[in-house]
Amino acid sequence: MGEARKLRYAIIGAGMAGILAGIKLKERGEQFTIYEKADKLGGTWRENRYPGLTCDVPAHAYTYSFEPYPDWDAYYSTGAQIQTYFEYVADKYGITPMIRFGHEVTSAIYNDATATWTLTFGNGSSVEADVVIAASGVLHHPKLPDIAGLDTFKGPAFHTARWDDSAPIDGARVGLIGCGSTGIQIVTALADRVEKLVHFQRSPQWVMPVPQFDYTDADREAFRKDPALMDAIRYNDEYLGAIKRFTDAITDIDGPLMQQIEDACLQNLENSVRDPELKEKLRPNYRAACKRLIYSWNYYDKVQQPSIFVETGGIERIEPTGVRMKDGTLHELDTLVLATGFRADRFIRPAVVKGAGGVCLDDFWAVRPRAHYAMTMPGFPNLFMLNGPTGPVGNFSLIDIAEQQWNYIEHLLDELRAGRARSVQPRAEAFEDYEERRIAAAKTTIFGSGCQSWYLDGEGVPASWPWSYEAFAEAMKQPVMSEFELAA
Ligand code: NAP
Repeated sequence: MGEARKLRYAIIGAGMAGILAGIKLKERGEQFTIYEKADKLGGTWRENRYPGLTCDVPAHAYTYSFEPYPDWDAYYSTGAQIQTYFEYVADKYGITPMIRFGHEVTSAIYNDATATWTLTFGNGSSVEADVVIAASGVLHHPKLPDIAGLDTFKGPAFHTARWDDSAPIDGARVGLIGCGSTGIQIVTALADRVEKLVHFQRSPQWVMPVPQFDYTDADREAFRKDPALMDAIRYNDEYLGAIKRFTDAITDIDGPLMQQIEDACLQNLENSVRDPELKEKLRPNYRAACKRLIYSWNYYDKVQQPSIFVETGGIERIEPTGVRMKDGTLHELDTLVLATGFRADRFIRPAVVKGAGGVCLDDFWAVRPRAHYAMTMPGFPNLFMLNGPTGPVGNFSLIDIAEQQWNYIEHLLDELRAGRARSVQPRAEAFEDYEERRIAAAKTTIFGSGCQSWYLDGEGVPASWPWSYEAFAEAMKQPVMSEFELAA
């Protein structure tokens, strides 16, 4: 049994999860630094600034559990206000000074002899740490469509996570490729601004109707005076019940709860869209919630406006003046927006990560990104991931998921802090057993019911937690220590 010791922690990424890790370590008086490639914190909320960006988790539930926020403008908040929230929290908890901006991790190499990690940065500097917390995000690396002629378009053409504020939008002819959560939100925001928006839709979406309303000054004052009012929204039976029903439905795809989701989406389409031709264009041919379900209060209203044209034909190529369809039609455009999603298999990569004995992360992830309960990996001691591969995904708060993951990680860190081990990693057999069970269950979830989405890994298996929310919460209470190898 060694001595208790002070660890040096390197947190990669100053988004929601990295800030969380910083707050939790600071509370315990630990020494840590957050390395951030950009010049601003916020992660996905820093990168995404497209018109219409809102979070489809109720604002009072999309906060850290320990830092409710009375100032939200609306039930579903805008991306801009969420960015403000993270900046506020990072300042309030003294995290901002702990962030080294402009530090993109290019490699993380484990040294077996010292049980330490060396991180090297794009600026050439490097640092040694005992523990690495990878909080580097999921939907992070834009995926551009493989369409001929994309680089010949003479107007602005950009991915949604690289919004070009100088591009013509108001009174302009805009093309929008992609119909995920992002594309749908952009349609709702631009319908009243453009002369014309052509929405190139390869697959339509199921849309769950949800209420949206602004909070008034009086509401905010009331939240400030009585924080229990915010808890009442966050822990509202209806909202928590909806999460539970959602996760139960996606894991019991022929059960009554999934039927309710399907019925609600179908009724929304039937009752909201008047033109029969448009209705058929917008009718998906796969099951609801197979792709990430769209929660929207105004998409069907906006898509029926005369300024919006839903183009369901195949794209032949992009030309200097617009998009040429396979049937020969040319849509002439001033601006082209690519809402084509992200490479969801990257995580900490392209950083080169080498673990014990020089094992490469790229090799370990050759078939699919994977990790024990989405956080730790055999061969990569003292490396912990927040919102890493195969964690829970769906229409609920990833802040809550990260907080629960942090709780699990703390138990493992305690082994190192107490000096009971210099390194901790999951046992290969325990991990393989877990991953086998996970894959078998994942194939039976709604995400594996026969549609294309970013939820699927390269082998077509849903890359997600495949069990209920309660099972996740239970698993996160503490690790099963016999599944871990502790080395002195
Ligand atoms: P996405 O869901 O991956 O959607 C990409 C879209 O681009 C799909 O409609 C896809 O069509 C289309 N596409 C891709 N390549 C194409 C091509 N070559 N030609 C034509 N269409 C093409 O990406 P996203 O909309 O950016 O959303 C990603 C995730 O971000 C969401 O699922 C969600 O988790 C998160 N998000 C959340 C919110 C929120 O409110 N909380 C808002 C925005 C984003 P197919 O479907 O046919 O493949």
